[in-house]
Amino acid sequence: MTSAISSSLAAVRQRLAAAEAAAGRAAGSVCLLAVSKTFPADAIQEAYDAGQRAFGENYVQELQAKSAELAGLDIEWHFIGPLQSNKTRPVAELAHWVHSVERLKIAERLSAQRPESLPPLNVCLQVNVSGEESKSGCAPHEALALARAVAALPRLRLRGLMCIPEPTADQARLAQQFALLHGLRDEMAAQGMVLDTLSMGMSSDLELAVREDSTLVRVGTAIFGSRTYPA
Ligand SMILES: *Cc1c(COP(=O)(O)O)cnc(C)c1O
Repeated sequence: MTSAISSSLAAVRQRLAAAEAAAGRAAGSVCLLAVSKTFPADAIQEAYDAGQRAFGENYVQELQAKSAELAGLDIEWHFIGPLQSNKTRPVAELAHWVHSVERLKIAERLSAQRPESLPPLNVCLQVNVSGEESKSGCAPHEALALARAVAALPRLRLRGLMCIPEPTADQARLAQQFALLHGLRDEMAAQGMVLDTLSMGMSSDLELAVREDSTLVRVGTAIFGSRTYPA
C-alpha cells in the first residue's frame, strides 16, 4: 500500500526530473531535501521508507527530538532555520549540514563545537537576496568576505550558498533573486573558492530555481502537506 507521503514524494521527484530536463540539466543533478519541520517522526519514517534520506529541520528542539527518535536510520539531517548563538551546540553535534549561517560568530561556534569524532560540518551561507528588512541572511556585498572567513574554520566545510526569496508570485522577481545567488557563487568561483551547492527552490518555485542552477531544493508542503502551525 502506498502512503499519501510516498505518492507526494514521487510526484515531487517527477517535478524535479522534469525541471532538470527542461533546464537542460543532467538527471539527478539536483538533490531533494525533504523539509519535515512541524511534522512528526512518523511522517519522516514514511518518506524514509519511500527512499528519502535527506531531511530539513528549522527548529533546534525538533531536530533534537526527531533525530533521537529516528536514531537507527541513516538520515542526513540539514538544519535550515534561524540559529541563535546559544543554540549552536546541539546543531553542531546532530546535523550533517547547516544552510543558515549568516554571520561569523555562529560559524565559529559551530566549528568549535563540532565533535572531533564527526567529519567537518557542511555549511552554506544564507544570503538575503531580496533585501527585505525582516529577512535572515547576510547582505550580498558581505558574502564574499564571510565565505573566506568561514572557509578557514577547521571543523566546517563550506559547501555553498542558500537563499529564501521574497514571498511573491512574480516569476521575474524570483528569477532575479535566484540569479543573484547564482552570480555570487560564480564570483566566488572566479576567486578560486570551490562551492558545489546552491540551496534554493521550495515547493512553489523549484522549477524556477532549477533553471537558475540550483543544486538542492528544500521542499516541505509538496511532500508532507500544509503545516498546521506557522514557521
Ligand atoms: C519551511 C521551509 C522550506 C519549505 O517550504 P515549502 O514551501 O513548504 O516547500 C524551505 N526552506 C526553508 C528555509 C524553510 O523554512
